[in-house]
Amino acid sequence: MKANFVDGSVIEGSYAAIERIKKMLGGAAPRYYIETYGCQMNEHDSETIAGMLERMGYEKAAEKSEADLILFNTCCIREHAEKRTFGNVGFVKEIKQNNPGLITAVCGCMMQQREVAQRLRDRFPFVDLVFGTNELAVFPQLLERVMGGERVFEIKNIDGEIPEGLPIRRNEGFSTFVNIMYGCNNFCSYCIVPYVRGRERSRRAEDVVAEVERAAAEGFTEVTLLGQNVNSYDDEGLRFPELLRRVSRVEGLKRLRFMTSHPKDLSHELVMAMAETPNVCEHIHLPVQSGSNRILKLMNRRYTREHYLDLIRDLRENVPGVEITTDIIVGFPTETEEDLEDTLSLVREVGFSAAYSFAYSVRQGTAAARMEGQIPEEVKKERLQRLNAVIMESVNGANDKYMGVEGEILIEGCDRRGEPMMFGKLPSLKMVYVNGDESMIGNYYKVRITGTRFNSLVGELI
Ligand code: SF4
Repeated sequence: MKANFVDGSVIEGSYAAIERIKKMLGGAAPRYYIETYGCQMNEHDSETIAGMLERMGYEKAAEKSEADLILFNTCCIREHAEKRTFGNVGFVKEIKQNNPGLITAVCGCMMQQREVAQRLRDRFPFVDLVFGTNELAVFPQLLERVMGGERVFEIKNIDGEIPEGLPIRRNEGFSTFVNIMYGCNNFCSYCIVPYVRGRERSRRAEDVVAEVERAAAEGFTEVTLLGQNVNSYDDEGLRFPELLRRVSRVEGLKRLRFMTSHPKDLSHELVMAMAETPNVCEHIHLPVQSGSNRILKLMNRRYTREHYLDLIRDLRENVPGVEITTDIIVGFPTETEEDLEDTLSLVREVGFSAAYSFAYSVRQGTAAARMEGQIPEEVKKERLQRLNAVIMESVNGANDKYMGVEGEILIEGCDRRGEPMMFGKLPSLKMVYVNGDESMIGNYYKVRITGTRFNSLVGELI
């Protein structure tokens, strides 16, 4: 599938605008603050915006109140997102009273819902800049117009082109994300993403590999490849298993992860790429959403419970020690007790090592929002509790098999709840706590598992 790319002259224009803003700032180092909601895609977009701002001469502010530019990168996946976002944007009014030169910008998925963006613009006259998910590449040009005294509102179509070559300021750490594609074609009936992120567009494999190489050169040893459905990655016939193999060869890359995988597109070839590539981690996030074929059909997921279980078998037969995590929705319109039982039995059968559970909530504009048979809130709540209890059994069962097992963890930080302990993840994504100190952060250590802590594991260094 051939994707369109933002024309090189536009990117050159962005760099030229960055230089002009830098000149305008005249060596002053104003501060920026970015508040990001939602998924890793948004985090990644925020890193690109931060990269552009730092090239202009901006520095990161520790607090919103100290900033000269505040940007909200919004999400519309969760219920009540609009209320929360509007509340947070509203607080900026007070900050602006003390700093009249403050620039306020709002972007991200929620702004791609035009009527919401319009409401935000009307309600908050102090918001200087609103832009959609496909205007990332021209952010410097938009900001330049704001600095020239204009109030800018720029939201184009959702099937935008792919921007390449923009600066990026990665969040600190040893693990980072690299986007391999944009958008989604699946139209699951409960999901708003295809309406705000547009159709699937894949980046060129060589651009993905080059970005991973740069990240590895900066000292990131763990990379997660990101996409709404990485299994349908398609760079003119080069599919995801091949991309995974190519990226895995990047020097200095110790761990390679990916998400998210749609079960309908998970191929045996990908399972074998995971099995045969040593630095690809033994973990897959494979959202099942429901164990009932009837509900899966209503959700427009386009696979069955039986197909999902076949995938799990294939993974477990070929990728030793693989852990599976998932997303599950209960209380979808018309869900019966029998449908719920199908979901609970699937959770027991698979033995997920973690599961993100949700009570269905309406997203206006989606097919499920118009369905008859919406489930009362108290029933959804009760079903969610029952699901969570079964998930906990499943997670604890998955933990038991680790006793005495040896593996390697990447230390990420220190947990100070109770007795302070360092923590890090195994390749399977299982969190392990060990004794130690902060000098260990960012390094890999061999451990033996000796017990559990909360839903995680405890180990000793070996
Ligand atoms: S695969 Fe389904 S749930 Fe995931 S982003 Fe696309 S439409 Fe939404």
